[in-house]
Amino acid sequence: MKEGSTIGFIGLGNMGRPMTTRLSGAGHRLLLLDLDRTLTESLAKELGQKAAASLEALGAACDVVITMLPDGKTVRRVLLGEAGDGTGAVAGSLRKGAVVIDMSSSSPVGTRELGSLLAKMDIRLVDAPVSGGVRRAVDGTLAIMVGGDPATIEAVQPVFAPMGKPMVAGRLGAGHAIKALNNYVSAAGLLAACEAVRAGARFGLEPATIVDIINASTGVNNSTLVKMKPFVLSGSYADGFGLALMAKDLRTALEVADATGMQTALADTVVRVWNDAEQKLGATKDVSVHHTAIDRYLGLLDGN
Ligand code: NAD
Repeated sequence: MKEGSTIGFIGLGNMGRPMTTRLSGAGHRLLLLDLDRTLTESLAKELGQKAAASLEALGAACDVVITMLPDGKTVRRVLLGEAGDGTGAVAGSLRKGAVVIDMSSSSPVGTRELGSLLAKMDIRLVDAPVSGGVRRAVDGTLAIMVGGDPATIEAVQPVFAPMGKPMVAGRLGAGHAIKALNNYVSAAGLLAACEAVRAGARFGLEPATIVDIINASTGVNNSTLVKMKPFVLSGSYADGFGLALMAKDLRTALEVADATGMQTALADTVVRVWNDAEQKLGATKDVSVHHTAIDRYLGLLDGN
């Protein structure tokens, strides 16, 4: 990556905002874009950076483009356009040799297809989804799971540094695959924790006591440690991670297993629970309260 290159950043939502703030604070020159024009302009003003007039304008001005969008289909549309050839989109105006870093949680199968299409246009793709949520995006301590060609990954290391810790996962798509699988493990832990606390409470135990004792025992997991007491038991947590986004990640994890012809037992159940919860609760206004949403969904099932 050339000294002083402009980084295009597309998708300025819950995660994109703090990530661009970190990049800007580290001295990178940015060109920002989101569907929400007001948000784009106000963030650009706040950071002292520029807002891109269009996807083509962003592509023409940048050597590196980061996408932080809801899913891989949106990433593909933003890069290749509706026609799929780059017309009216970023790839149509990017110079040869430019690098696109998709930091969204996209499907790895789609990422590999996209990588082949971009390679035909001499554009390099790296997948670099993140874990750690809004809090770690703000702190610049995200876990970044990187897939792609080693030389390209090496070239964009300075971009990752302000946002968190990059870990090379393997070839293109490996980061997206691990991200989905990680969220599956995380969701399974949350579901188990919510179910255990509900069962224990119905048995007459104190919910906080259940969590404390699990945390000192072998059932401890990330949800029991950092989510259950402050967020689920209090019923008051909005963590900025949409229920629909987690449901998408879990379907992606299942897609990864399916692509290998593997039968899953637990993953099928976890996906069904999140799909169901999304259907039953998705329309409510606190869909971002995803941890309490799962607890509430379980409450619907057992009549509480
Ligand atoms: P978000 O919904 O808050 O933000 C997405 C942004 O993309 C929005 O501002 C939206 O306007 C914009 N957008 C959508 N379509 C667009 C388009 N065609 N062109 C330009 N902009 C467009 O989502 P988020 O929580 O920031 O998550 C972004 C990605 O990061 C998702 O893939 C998500 O799964 C992943 N992720 C989220 C978290 C979290 O805690 N929120 C954690 C890790 C990973």
